Amino acid sequence: MHPVRQKIRAELEAPPVLRRFGSGWISGVLGLVLGVAGLLLVLSLRLPGEFSMPEIRALHTHAWFRVVLHVILLAGFVCSALSLALRAERVLGTVGVVVTLIAALLGGSTANALAADPTPMFLGLDFFVLNVLFTGFLFIPVERIFPHRGEQPVFREEWREDLFYYLVSSLLVQVLTYLSFAPAKSIVAFAPLAGVRAWVGSLPFVVQFVAIMFLTDLVQYWVHRAFHRVPWLWHFHAVHHSAKSMDWMAGARMHFFEIVALRSTTVIPMFVLGFSATAMNAYILLVYIYSTFVHANLSWRFPRLEKILVTPRFHHWHHGIEKEAIDVNFAIHFPLLDRLFGTHHLPQEKWPEGYGISGHPVPQGYVRQFKYPFQQKSPSA
Ligand SMILES: [Zn+2]
Ligand SMILES: [Zn+2]
Repeated sequence: MHPVRQKIRAELEAPPVLRRFGSGWISGVLGLVLGVAGLLLVLSLRLPGEFSMPEIRALHTHAWFRVVLHVILLAGFVCSALSLALRAERVLGTVGVVVTLIAALLGGSTANALAADPTPMFLGLDFFVLNVLFTGFLFIPVERIFPHRGEQPVFREEWREDLFYYLVSSLLVQVLTYLSFAPAKSIVAFAPLAGVRAWVGSLPFVVQFVAIMFLTDLVQYWVHRAFHRVPWLWHFHAVHHSAKSMDWMAGARMHFFEIVALRSTTVIPMFVLGFSATAMNAYILLVYIYSTFVHANLSWRFPRLEKILVTPRFHHWHHGIEKEAIDVNFAIHFPLLDRLFGTHHLPQEKWPEGYGISGHPVPQGYVRQFKYPFQQKSPSA
């Protein structure tokens, strides 16, 4: 590894005594994260055809988008400077200052597109930045205040691997969206259910929303259960279960082909039955936050709610390493499904002792995990 990268990693993963308030660690991390985020956003402004998602590209002309970017860059610079003043080890602050300066030299918040876009294909680089900033800023503070595992740091074991999963699925957002909706669209084309679709679309919003949640979870339950019970499917899903730490990043770890299989089957009822675009979009936003929430390192118990809705403790049991946690709690919204189909497991007060798969058969790293399902397995795996 390059010595600067090695130093940055050592700093991010520094022991608690070197991370305490006033040590310049928090400002150093914030400066680096905001600086890199700002630089990547400037890059997506300069090369929108290549690195900007059309929905975000449409915001480029809005004044407030530029203001937000300006604030990100300014905050990145100020935090990095603060860290340089407070901290003996200067690598975080220095790199933070350098990246914000590069972003400023490239045009900063007033950067404009270099050329018109010749191709319809893009990588969602700006989506990645906003995705990580939004989810990180939403979950990290609550995970710090109400942690289930208080000793688990933000930059825990294998955080780089999970961040890389975020990167790949954000960059490939266009391909993933296309593949996710392709089967549902062909069903609609071949089986026009005009009457049913009109009726479903006319139902009140709340009814549509809850119906989408239930139908999606019903399909998700059986697809998920198949991924556990069918051996060759399990080798894809084992990647998701290989996470040894649970937090806001852990849910991102999923084999590319599993993401496609899971999304393309679960959107079928929502898309084919003619739910309104408002209800579908509201559900997509919910499931985006909800799937992060159930993996989060949160101690919240919700004793009443956890009987009706899936909570972190419920899904943490799904990831438990012990025997009693094998093949339980497949639902992602309604524990009722697991009760109905005999897979419910939520012992009073107890949390799983650890996470992952016994013996840890899945190798580390994105590429090795991508290849893992296609490799010969020893009988014990
Ligand atoms: Zn599973
Ligand atoms: Zn999970």
